[in-house]
Formats: sequence, structure tokens, C-alpha cells
Amino acid sequence: MIIIYFLIFAVRFSHQREKIREIVYNTNSHPTADKIFLEAKKSIPKISLGTVYRNLKQLEISGEIKTIYDDNIARYDWNTEPHNHLKCKNCGDLIDIVLKDKSIHPKIKKDFKFNVDKVEMFIIGTCKKHAKQT
Ligand SMILES: [Zn+2]
Repeated sequence: MIIIYFLIFAVRFSHQREKIREIVYNTNSHPTADKIFLEAKKSIPKISLGTVYRNLKQLEISGEIKTIYDDNIARYDWNTEPHNHLKCKNCGDLIDIVLKDKSIHPKIKKDFKFNVDKVEMFIIGTCKKHAKQT
């Protein structure tokens, strides 16, 4: 009997984690835990925000997602490869970009005597949807 209960819990936990993973992987919007929670609630009404946070942490530990910090707010990214973000100051959208230009590495080393391992930047500006307004 105990084994059956354990299996039911294990299935439920993996189902929740799978749903949360799917939500992060199905969007480029870099959602916050609150947004993921609201989305997950549609198919798992009893899910709690704590469960969402726990599963996000697990997914991060297993390397399936990456946490990024936007003004100290955690947002979740399916793209775990090194990349940078363009942030629109009007809508807050984050757009993934990969900067191939490595010329910043020697510049940082020369100007600040600092060895660069990787560069992860937020570049603030205006996205094409809002370009006319500025
Ligand atoms: Zn990203």
C-alpha cells in the first residue's frame, strides 16, 4: 500500500515538473514564477506557488532551464546556452541574442584588469513594436 501511495506522489510530482518545464519551453517571454504559476493553474488547479518555485529550482539544478535576474526579479529561460538579452524599456520584452563579437573581452582586460570568462548583458532600448514612439 505504501508503495502505491509513493508511486501516486511520484507521478504527480513528475507531472507537475513536466508541466512547468513545458510552460518555460513554450515561450520566449522569459516568464516570472508568478506567470508560470498562473499558466500551470489552468491545467493543475491545486498547484501552489511554492510547488512552482520548488520545481523551477529542480529544473535549474538539472540544467534544463536557466534563471536570469531582471531588476532583481527572477525570470526563467529555456535557453541555457550563453546569450545576451535585449530589453525593451516600453514593454519589458526580453529578446535573446548571441553577440559573436568578442572584442569586449580584451577591452575589459585592458581597461579594468579583469579576465572575462563570459559576457551576459542586458541591453536596454526600444523594440521594433515601439520604435515609432520614440
Ligand atoms: Zn534568454
